[in-house]
Amino acid sequence: MAYCLQCGHQAEQKIPEGDHNLRLVCPSCDYIHYENPKVICGALVIYEQKVLLCRRAIEPRYGYWTLPAGFMEIGETIAQGALRETVEEADAIATNPHLYCIYDIPDIGQIYVLYLTDLQDGKFGTGIESLECALFSEDEIPWDEIAFEAVKRTLNHYFTDRQHHYNHNDFPLHQEQIAKDKSIKRY
Ligand code: ZN
Repeated sequence: MAYCLQCGHQAEQKIPEGDHNLRLVCPSCDYIHYENPKVICGALVIYEQKVLLCRRAIEPRYGYWTLPAGFMEIGETIAQGALRETVEEADAIATNPHLYCIYDIPDIGQIYVLYLTDLQDGKFGTGIESLECALFSEDEIPWDEIAFEAVKRTLNHYFTDRQHHYNHNDFPLHQEQIAKDKSIKRY
């Protein structure tokens, strides 16, 4: 059961006039609770050809490896959010953010925006949402223990792209849709 955020009255599902989607609407004060996609910002952090991964200390996917990433906050840019997440999850400073991967996941209303970055001084720790953090070379990546499809794809893109590009600023932007069946769609 849901209640109005504005007046506390019991809210109901209906299509507001002039709209075409079901919304949670308050019959008492007419407040409409809009739910829109959320942006997840994150960083692929590189040091001497290795990538920084964090093992999740939280659900979902507890114990699986991921990139530093999380929900964007009001008051920050996407890149700032990616760098903040790197501090929070890996106790590390990521620098030189280069826009690298954008994934739409329409089925769950999420948009991932991931930046290719450098790890300052090669230093990192373990953030509060991580069990451990570590740098992995390509042949050390625990592919069967990667938390999310978006992370898997980003790692794959990176190991492919670096065969053709040296400077991070020359890496191409990857924009894809992640569908339920995990098939690759390009827009
Ligand atoms: Zn209300």
